[in-house]
Parts: sequence; structure tokens; C-alpha cells
Amino acid sequence: MKKFYLESLGCPKNLVDSENFAAILQQAGFRKTDNVVGADIVFVNTCAFLQSSLAELEDVLNAVEELKREGQIGRVIVSGCVMNRNPKHFQEAYPSVDNWIGLKDFATLAKLLVTELPVQRKQLETGFHAYLRISDGCENFCSYCKIPSIRGKLLSVPIEQLKLEAQALAARPVLSDKGRPYSPERFPQELILIAQDSCLYGTDLYGRKALPELIEALHEIEGFKWIRLMYLHPDHFELDWLALFERFPRLLPYFEIPIQHVSRGIISAMHRQKSETELTELFLTIKRRLPQAALRTTLMTGFPGESLQDYKAMQRFLKSVPLLHMGSFAFSAEDGTAAYSMQGQIKSSAALRRQDKLEMFWEELRQQRWENYVGQVLDVLIEGRGSDSPDEFVGRAWFQAPEIDGQVIVNSSSCKPGQIVKTEIDDVVGTTLFAHTL
Ligand code: SF4
Repeated sequence: MKKFYLESLGCPKNLVDSENFAAILQQAGFRKTDNVVGADIVFVNTCAFLQSSLAELEDVLNAVEELKREGQIGRVIVSGCVMNRNPKHFQEAYPSVDNWIGLKDFATLAKLLVTELPVQRKQLETGFHAYLRISDGCENFCSYCKIPSIRGKLLSVPIEQLKLEAQALAARPVLSDKGRPYSPERFPQELILIAQDSCLYGTDLYGRKALPELIEALHEIEGFKWIRLMYLHPDHFELDWLALFERFPRLLPYFEIPIQHVSRGIISAMHRQKSETELTELFLTIKRRLPQAALRTTLMTGFPGESLQDYKAMQRFLKSVPLLHMGSFAFSAEDGTAAYSMQGQIKSSAALRRQDKLEMFWEELRQQRWENYVGQVLDVLIEGRGSDSPDEFVGRAWFQAPEIDGQVIVNSSSCKPGQIVKTEIDDVVGTTLFAHTL
């Protein structure tokens, strides 16, 4: 049987597109392989969000180019965000790529491989969670961000369609570490809603924020024990929605609210609204209403004009708000964005230094906060087996989203991947918790 190798770069939003492309490849008679050497088709789904994403893409395409020259792989197909960001440069630099396909242009791939469009995505990753992309595109135009020009206008998927898609995901057998479905079959336990800005879901389709209706509809689906919301924009989050977390027990009180900065001047130059006082109030209100809430944010260092005072405001914020997770990144000047030509550009080496410093500052706070988990009883979703012993399993506590918030190593003689088990936390090292089952 012919084989395809798929490299999915970037975030879970891109992974959803990759799963659609993979389903077409499978429908056309290709089997997925994890070994690029010997693949009849190498498919690269690109991310072009930042300069660093483009550099990563160059590394991948250089390696692919070499394999192709050596005759170790067959046809090379490239798609994804790069097609809406300077594709000409890449098309000239990599002549060995056989086909360049537009972003999300599934029909062209199907046509190329002489097959139909399949109805369901193919799972590419192991684990008992499934992503549901509720909308694509963004019209917020944060001044540093390329996404609106790459992904286009906000386009929400109708509630009925999302419900069908989520039902199909709930019935999609999960792949084991060996890349084959478990036997007997096991199914995802967690549904993760993703978008560029989940709070604006439905405004284009229904003329109103329709996230509550969507949650209500998805909550009816049997199968998912956990439902997680990602990418809640602080300017568009409604405090009324906190009632949803009381009403729907499977909706996790996990709040991923990327704020990027807190200083008023920087926030306004970013074309965003809420700054330190309002953001502090927002997070503290969530915590007052839902004391068990897990709070996550992201911060950016080195935005043009960022002063020492602005930077210190972020440290103050981290101290005063009981966040559990913080992700940081350094400003990257992206051509075509408003921030690219702003006054007061800061050298990227300085932006990176500030990011390191912020991370170090955060790490101390994080450690103190995470140590409180030792001795606590927590629900953990077992995602797979560990590598050190037959009694070791790898999972996530409810407040840990896949890939970004760490993991729990569970010692147990009775666990099975796919179960949600009660554990007691014994220790914490970095963002890894160590636990045993009760
Ligand atoms: S909301 Fe997110 S995707 Fe949209 S412009 Fe801002 S940073 Fe970019």
C-alpha cells in the first residue's frame, strides 16, 4: 500500500486542517506512516504566523528537498498558511515541491488524487482529546498579528454542523501509541473548542455572541466528560458566561485568556482595550465566582515602545493575579502588520532577554502555586502509558490542556488509557505532577 507522511506545523487550529488533508490522502488509498523515508507522498501543512514559523518551515523544506534529491521520497505537496504569506519566495526556493495547494483547499487535493472529499477528519495524534474548531479567521487586527491577513475574516461554523462534527469525534476510535486504534475500541473523553477568538463565535452568523448556545448544544452529546474552551479574548469575554460553568458540569472551569500585556500604552498600541486594572478585575472576578477556576494567560515582551515601567507592570500583574499557567513570547516584527513600522522598535535580543527574565520571575511564583497541589486529590485523564515501568501512566489533570500545561505521571497497577481516575498528588517537579491512584 502506498504511504503518506504528514508534517503538521503550528498550532491545534492548523492540526484540524491537517486532519482534513490526511483524510483525503487516506481516502485516495494512502496509509499514514511516521517514517518520512520511503513515503510516496510527503505533505507539509505550514504555519506562517511568525518569522520563527517561517524559519522552521525552511528547515523542514530543506530536509524534504534533500530526501527528494536522494530519491528517498515521492511526491511533495505543501499547503497551509504560507500560501497566504509570501508563497512566491518559497515556490522559487524549493523547486522540488510538486504541488502548492491553497490554505484549506481540500477540493484541490482531492482532485489531484482523483478522490472524493471524505466526511470525517483522520486523527493524527494519540490521546483522548479531540479538537473542534468553532470558527476560523479573525477581524480583531491586533497590531502585531498576521493572522487576519492570512486566515481572513471571521467565519463561524453553524451550531448544528458543530454538533454533528462533535458527535462524530466522540465516536472516533482513539489511536494507541502504536498508531492503531485500541482494541477493544476506546473513544475521546475531552472536547476542546478552538478558534482565533472563541468569544466572538457566532457574531458573523447570528449577529450575536453565540458561545452559550453552542456550549449548551455540545453539552448534550454523550461521551465527552470534559469540555474545554481555549482562546478567550479578554475584551470580548462576558462575565454572564460564568453561570455556564455552574450550569454545565462537564464544562471545565479553565480560562485561557491571552492578554499579551497589561500596560495601558502598550495595550492601546496593540489595538486592544483592557489593561492592568480591568484585566486584574476580570481575573479576580472569575476567581471570586468560581474559586476552583484555573487561570492561564500569555504575555509578550519587547513590543515597540515597551519601557522598563511597562515591563514591570507585567511582573506586578503576575504577582497579584492567581494565575496557574503563563506562556510568554518575544515580540516579532511581522511585515504587513501595524506594529512592524511603529516607533520605538526594540532589538530582538533585548525582547528575548526580557522574555527570559519574565519567565524566571514567573517560575518562582508558579512553583509556589503548584506546590499547593501536593496531597490534593485530582481527577486525571490517562492519555497513555509511561516509558519507565508497566505501572506508569501519563495523563493530565483537568486544569492541564494538552501540550501547554504539563502532565501528571500516575503510578497505578489498575489504570487504562482513556480513563479519568482519582489520584492523590505526591510531588511536583516543574509542570509535571507525580501521583498515585486512590
Ligand atoms: S485576536 Fe488573536 S488572531 Fe486575532 S488579531 Fe488578535 S492576536 Fe491575532
